[in-house]
Amino acid sequence: MDKLDLKDLTFEELSGWVASLGEKPFRAKQIFQWVYRGAHSVSEMTDLSKGLREKLDGLCEIGHLEIERKLVSKLDGTIKYLFRLRDGNLIESVLMSYKHGNTLCVSSQVGCRMGCRFCASTIGGLLRSLTPSEIIDQVMKAEEDSGHKISNIVMMGIGEPLDNYDNVIKFLKNVNHKDGLNIGYRHISLSTCGVVDRIYDLAEENLPITLSISLHSPFDEERRKLMPVDVQFPLPSLMEALKAYLNATGRRISVEYAMIRGVNDTKACAEELAKLFGGMLVHINLIPVNNVAERDFEKSGAKQIRQFQERLMKLGLSVTVRRELGSDINAACGQLRKAVLEEEKREQNKLAEVKQK
Ligand code: SAH
Repeated sequence: MDKLDLKDLTFEELSGWVASLGEKPFRAKQIFQWVYRGAHSVSEMTDLSKGLREKLDGLCEIGHLEIERKLVSKLDGTIKYLFRLRDGNLIESVLMSYKHGNTLCVSSQVGCRMGCRFCASTIGGLLRSLTPSEIIDQVMKAEEDSGHKISNIVMMGIGEPLDNYDNVIKFLKNVNHKDGLNIGYRHISLSTCGVVDRIYDLAEENLPITLSISLHSPFDEERRKLMPVDVQFPLPSLMEALKAYLNATGRRISVEYAMIRGVNDTKACAEELAKLFGGMLVHINLIPVNNVAERDFEKSGAKQIRQFQERLMKLGLSVTVRRELGSDINAACGQLRKAVLEEEKREQNKLAEVKQK
């Protein structure tokens, strides 16, 4: 039988489990603190009795990821981690340093089933969702390896967080818990392509995180071509959900907008964006689209992006252009995992050829 991974449990769940073993409540707090201070095994928990440690050892473990590869940008120090999961799958995280602290971009799934046309993460489809342990250990491993305290988290790596809802909520709770990683909700962003029903659920959780919406086009017909999720959840339904989210939480929403040459960078797009978001508490991030080998999308020119930004600002919107970090290490999500998977496939083919000969 598989052992229980302590990093999969919220503090409340751990407390319930510890009580079910007939242990005193304060034991749960001790165990939780050990886990998030980076213990690798129960045997390190020296303030538990030997008997309890032995009992726990038979029942549970503390999951951790292996660093498969690490790339460091010579341009800006951005670090990209490729992690190997226990079942052999690969995921990525990216550590970026800003003046205000260190931000880790984490993955929430192995692959993705959302199918956005410009995105590398979705090319091989969804293999599986990550466990809470696998999401949180990206943060812990990156801190341990880099020696940098992570102050901010963005859920913008591989996968759709709202397609792995329950595990993502557990992750958020443990990241935030004062005996967990103790990172404030206000320092966490969750990005979604627009899974509308889950946006309502998230509003009900009432966590003061920042919700980011990957919009990429203000026109339904155009957005549908770029993002298949728009077929199930068309723009009007997304806008309604965003308004409900704003009403419920009062938290400003981020809008992600990848600038694609000749596709969504026109004057008409800027004007439509202003119609959609005028008067709403949103901030728009313009991101020059990253080139993905299999996709023939080109980023808009620098001048075009500046004009687009100015136009939006004149129309009363709050807009910034995202700085491109780690451009020499394929820092955009999904690209390294894909490259290594292809490398492994080539190796396997070579081996198969040798065997045949
Ligand atoms: N599934 C979530 C989070 C992961 S993607 C979401 O869709 O929001 C994180 C962000 O990167 C999203 O805004 C996504 O649209 C964007 N993105 C994906 N591929 C990109 C590319 N090639 N260039 C620029 N942004 C990209």
